[in-house]
Amino acid sequence: MAKFNLAKKISASVSKLSGYVPGEQPEGGGWVKLNTNEFPYPPSPKAARAVLAELGKDAARLRLYPSPDSRGLRAAAAKYYGLKPEFAFAANGSDDALNLIIRAFADGEKSVATLEPSYSLYPVLSKMQGAKFVRIPFGKNLSIDVSKIASSGANLFFFTNPNAPTGFGFGREIVEEIASRFDGIVVVDEAYAPFSGATAAKLVEKFKNLIVVGTSSKGWGLAGMRIGWAFADPSIIEVLDRVRDSYNLDRLAQAAGAAAIGDEKYYAPLRAEIVSEREKVQEFFDSLGWRYFKSSSNFVFFKPSKNGKFGARAAADLFAYLKSKKILLRYFASDKSVSDGIRMTVGTPAQMEIFKKAALKWSKGK
Ligand code: PMP
Repeated sequence: MAKFNLAKKISASVSKLSGYVPGEQPEGGGWVKLNTNEFPYPPSPKAARAVLAELGKDAARLRLYPSPDSRGLRAAAAKYYGLKPEFAFAANGSDDALNLIIRAFADGEKSVATLEPSYSLYPVLSKMQGAKFVRIPFGKNLSIDVSKIASSGANLFFFTNPNAPTGFGFGREIVEEIASRFDGIVVVDEAYAPFSGATAAKLVEKFKNLIVVGTSSKGWGLAGMRIGWAFADPSIIEVLDRVRDSYNLDRLAQAAGAAAIGDEKYYAPLRAEIVSEREKVQEFFDSLGWRYFKSSSNFVFFKPSKNGKFGARAAADLFAYLKSKKILLRYFASDKSVSDGIRMTVGTPAQMEIFKKAALKWSKGK
């Protein structure tokens, strides 16, 4: 064989691609981990019980393939949102759902659009697919000009609601307006909707071009199991079924997700506590004169200041200071549009106290 040159063998769309960089998952204990928007409590005990029941005493069931279409999980997710099971799709985390949607509805001719800033995985997935990516900036105070979305020429539009990384939430009306005016597939990414009290899931019965994507990672404490879902008209579900892996969720994930999703008795008070802590930390930022986007999520994007100065220097300095105290937040250093702020996951009341004490100390000059 002639000298092997790997670079020449990589597909055109992947050769210049930089992969998505997820938030740090630190090794070892002792961290106040507020960087990847996980739920600060364990999942419903029903999830653990379902996993143990699925394993049985000798894990013999793991010998057998799981339900190819995650039937039980789809049914449970649909029921929770008041939909018929044929409107539901299950995925290996909602990132998998987003990836499959792009695989099905984007290519060299069919472009993808989103509002800027939004979840930074969309452009990576689009490039992988060889699709053009259109960024539509928000207007002042995160206002949305639907005519810009309608005239974008894109085939697929991603609407992160609540938005990431700002945390800001929009009402159902804007989803209806986008779905009726955009001539393509509209995807509402509702990863953080369990903390906003609003979901567009039921609108998939009305709009044949709408997909609503959700995840168990943020609102159900199951990020480690990789369980996501998507709701859409059955005609769209059929297309997604064509492109997924034959068995895209393992047995344990299917069991855990189906058992946990409807356990409101367990989740509702914990989510209420997170929302209350979110409001309190925003008041804390007010007391320091720091800026933030009013959040409808389980995180707050805030802009700190030191000696009256806002900017990337203050944000980077506070991030590093907190990290040195083993308090881990998320800082997007390389993205100029958000490098003057830090994203903080809302944790338990105890974690929030630790954060506030350290932030206060820093603001006073350490
Ligand atoms: N959408 C948004 C807006 C997110 O922030 C995330 C988490 N990074 C996801 C989807 C994916 O979550 P998961 O794959 O864990 O379901």
